Amino acid sequence: MRIAVVGSGYVGLVSGACLADFGHTVVCVDNDNEKIEALLQARVPIFEPGLDELVATNIREGRLHFTTDLAGAVSNAEVVFIAVGTPSRHGDGHADLTYVYAAAREIAGAIKDFTVIVDKSTVPVGTGDEVERVIRKANPVARFSVASNPEFLREGAAIADFKHPDRIVVGVEDDMAKEVLTNVYRPLNLNRVPIMFTRRRTAELVKYASNAFLAMKITFINELADLCESLDADIQDVALGLGLDNRIGPKFLHAGPGYGGSCFPKDTIALARTAQDAATPLRLVESTIAINDQRRRSMARRVIAACDGVVRDKTIGVLGLTFKPNTDDIRESPALSIIQALKDRGAKVRAYDPKGREAAAELLSSDDVYFASDPYDAAADADALVIVTEWDVFRALDLRRLREVMKSPVLVDLRNVYGYTQIEQAGFSYHCIGRPRQA
Ligand code: NAD
Repeated sequence: MRIAVVGSGYVGLVSGACLADFGHTVVCVDNDNEKIEALLQARVPIFEPGLDELVATNIREGRLHFTTDLAGAVSNAEVVFIAVGTPSRHGDGHADLTYVYAAAREIAGAIKDFTVIVDKSTVPVGTGDEVERVIRKANPVARFSVASNPEFLREGAAIADFKHPDRIVVGVEDDMAKEVLTNVYRPLNLNRVPIMFTRRRTAELVKYASNAFLAMKITFINELADLCESLDADIQDVALGLGLDNRIGPKFLHAGPGYGGSCFPKDTIALARTAQDAATPLRLVESTIAINDQRRRSMARRVIAACDGVVRDKTIGVLGLTFKPNTDDIRESPALSIIQALKDRGAKVRAYDPKGREAAAELLSSDDVYFASDPYDAAADADALVIVTEWDVFRALDLRRLREVMKSPVLVDLRNVYGYTQIEQAGFSYHCIGRPRQA
């Protein structure tokens, strides 16, 4: 099939490359010249494991193309995916649909033959209806259908998630769109991936419901971790015992500094706003948002407590800036709130991240943070070292070397990567999440 993908960010680029790898002919479009210039030379502007090779292979084999010319790409396509950003709107937390509607208007002018416009961006219920109206108004003679196909991939494992998803959700209002999307995803039939067809508005809601549920799961285990600390119980074992129940499952039960990233924070807020506007508030989601917000702030208090209540003029090493490992995405990363709170209390921060430095440097000036070259450089002369993101390289740190370079051996492990015995034997004072000292 001939496919255009509008928006070549984390979702658009991964989707485009994977769809090309299935054998389709794909043109990825972006209005960011620099991004497209890089991609035309097979340079991938984001870090996502395996994506460089996938893009290079599919360019070489002539199935994957890049352009800033949206009209050219759309006029040749049978299917057009919209994968532009839908950030939180300033002020009220609703999803900002400016980019989606702008893309829809541009697409409208370029439609030639019958085209299925598929919204892959995460958008509130009813956005597909509005996209349809926008296109109809801009181009009353166009033959098209608008479908919803929310994306569930996770950054850091995006290719595997796209190629082997638990399910594909497609919302359509007519059989033509259903047939076209069946053909788009036919290559996944071999993997027996369930494709669920439903109405457009329902598909839009499935995405928000999924993210809100996962955010609630994380928030639930985080609150239980605090309870474990009060009751001298072990959150790791509570999570294990809980997750072994098939009805619950083990995933998203890792206590930590609170969820972040480019999706959960904005999607939970957008869902809560949608529900409030519909006069059917989702109180569990509203509580999740509030609890997570508090949690992220409280993490800095833990670091301060580990430094005997004062961080003014002290140096804190921070390991991890991205919101999770294996990505360079720092959007809404807990590390940013923690660093800010530590700075507010007068601390000097030295931070290291394997991939997040460039993005972080756009938000934090070098006056705010010293960007270290490795974990030991981050720990140099530090009064405490905090693990915020569980990158693999932080899992087997040379503890003796750390101790040598630090001013005082204090480790605050917000991801429960280590255990008391190991760290205390290395001469550190150890602080973790929801685990009693003797564990
Ligand atoms: P992103 O910011 O990485 O990429 C969006 C891209 O769209 C940018 O490169 C931007 O330049 C481009 N763009 C914007 N308007 C355009 C236009 N009119 N024409 C051409 N290009 C345009 O965003 P992302 O992380 O890929 O997210 C995209 C959508 O997918 C969002 O709705 C997000 O919620 C959803 N989503 C994201 C993830 C994730 O893990 N990142 C997972 C599932 C769903």
